[in-house]
Amino acid sequence: MGKPTGFMDYNRKELAMRPAKERLHDWDEVKTSSLPHKKDLQTQAARCMDCSIPFCHSGIMLNGSLSGCPLHNLMPEFNDFVYHGLDHFAYARLNKTNNFPEFTSHVCPAPCEGACSAGLVNDPVSIKNLEQYVIEQAFASKLVKPNKPSHRTGKKVAIIGSGPAGLACADELNKAGHYVTVYERADRPGGLLMYGIPNMKLDKKLVERRVELLKKGGVEFSLNSEVGHSVSSDMLRKQYDAIVLCTGSTIPRDLPLPGRDLDGIHFAKDYLHSTTKSLLDSKMKDGKAISAKGKDVVVIGGGDTGTDCVATALRQGCKSIRQIEIMPCLPHSRTPNNPWPEFPKVFKTDYGQEEAIEVFGKDPRQYCISTKEFIGKDGTVDKLRICQIEWKNVNCMMTPVEIPGTEEIIPAQLVLLALGFIGTEQTIFDEFKVQRSQQNNIVADDQEYATSIEGIFAAGDARRGQSLVVWAIAEGRKAAAAVNKYLSEK
Ligand SMILES: Cc1cc2nc3c(=O)[nH]c(=O)nc-3n(C[C@H](O)[C@H](O)[C@H](O)COP(=O)(O)OP(=O)(O)OC[C@H]3O[C@@H](n4cnc5c(N)ncnc54)[C@H](O)[C@@H]3O)c2cc1C
Ligand code: SF4
Repeated sequence: MGKPTGFMDYNRKELAMRPAKERLHDWDEVKTSSLPHKKDLQTQAARCMDCSIPFCHSGIMLNGSLSGCPLHNLMPEFNDFVYHGLDHFAYARLNKTNNFPEFTSHVCPAPCEGACSAGLVNDPVSIKNLEQYVIEQAFASKLVKPNKPSHRTGKKVAIIGSGPAGLACADELNKAGHYVTVYERADRPGGLLMYGIPNMKLDKKLVERRVELLKKGGVEFSLNSEVGHSVSSDMLRKQYDAIVLCTGSTIPRDLPLPGRDLDGIHFAKDYLHSTTKSLLDSKMKDGKAISAKGKDVVVIGGGDTGTDCVATALRQGCKSIRQIEIMPCLPHSRTPNNPWPEFPKVFKTDYGQEEAIEVFGKDPRQYCISTKEFIGKDGTVDKLRICQIEWKNVNCMMTPVEIPGTEEIIPAQLVLLALGFIGTEQTIFDEFKVQRSQQNNIVADDQEYATSIEGIFAAGDARRGQSLVVWAIAEGRKAAAAVNKYLSEK
């Protein structure tokens, strides 16, 4: 512990965001580009108590919700090194558990902070900011190098999918000396890091910087290669000693209501993909992004993906924006059935809502709203019929019940469905004949990561269902260890 009284002496201070008024005019990261002064971060590190119950790195499920870091990052240790100015040791500690701290320190919801002991009586330690400081200092000091193995085993592994699970798995297996090829159907690697999470939240240069390091370390990437279409699974089975399916949970949940076939209704993932691709290909000049310009936009879904859609539509110059959610609003502080160290399920105003308030003077979110119909004009969506609902216990099941007299028709020339994902695509089951779970994911346990077919493994959202970047990295690492064991025994 750097400073025994640090948590009492200093208040939590977070990395600043650029003012909403400024950042709305560009696609750059919402966070300020420069890290705060080293002294300020040392002060923040001094708030870590190195307590005897460090739930921050536990990464366990409590009461059905995640508590602590799934990667088991050693925060008390790297905080101590930061406090003492030993940044290179801090990086060595972080690098032991996390292949890509530059991703998690930008997009992770930080379950570690929800489980921080300081958070019991005060604000938690700003672990995520410290993680960002450690990795960016390491890049600046040229400590982050390609992981070239000292010898090659001669074994070949194909990884399908280049999201965080596939990249972490590739990094670990390459370090172990195996020849690794990552097959990706998109034109750029990164999975949802590249084409899901918007540039404002995770600058794509960070993804490219890491992919370059992986390539220099010896990992090969085969882009525009869709397994089951341009690449056959038979070829993969013949040419590789093991295959890891990291294909994500890519089927979006639909809303099959009257009028669903109208133009102008898109899945959030297609909308966000088209925007990032247009930004990277042409700085938005090719006109290929699905556009919100001049339109009344309704985002259906109150989660983080919905927030990303709100922020994107605002930058495109929408006429109005609403984000509607069928669930009730979360409480402003922890409730008795969501105690520390569980992940706090509390109301937050994220970057997208902050920006909507800046432009339109009010929070775009409305809760307990159900959509009844998409109404069209000349084949394109023009309005939505919605109503307010209340959640009632009907036959022991919480059920949304319409409140009479609340039906309303609202303008909507662009509707974005951000309702989550419902599992792995059929092609993967057809090609590899792996067992499917009831939730439509690939069956593989969380020890061996082996599917029902010998030599084929699965990790990330494809195995655990729609989740988080931090889980995907953790799964990619563990699956790599399992594949390494399998290949060694073989
Ligand atoms: C819009 C959005 C925002 C998000 N924001 C956050 C956030 O802020 N923080 C957070 O922690 N999590 C966030 N998530 C969730 C997070 O991105 C995912 O949990 C994570 O990326 C899963 O990683 P993965 O490697 O398992 O799969 P993915 O990232 O989905 O990657 C799977 C890859 O497999 C490829 N693929 C699929 N089938 C084939 C095939 N047949 N052949 C070749 N390639 C194939 C896909 O093209 C894709 O590139 C977000 C998700 C979305 C949709
Ligand atoms: S990866 Fe996420 S949970 Fe783990 S230390 Fe970083 S911010 Fe916290």
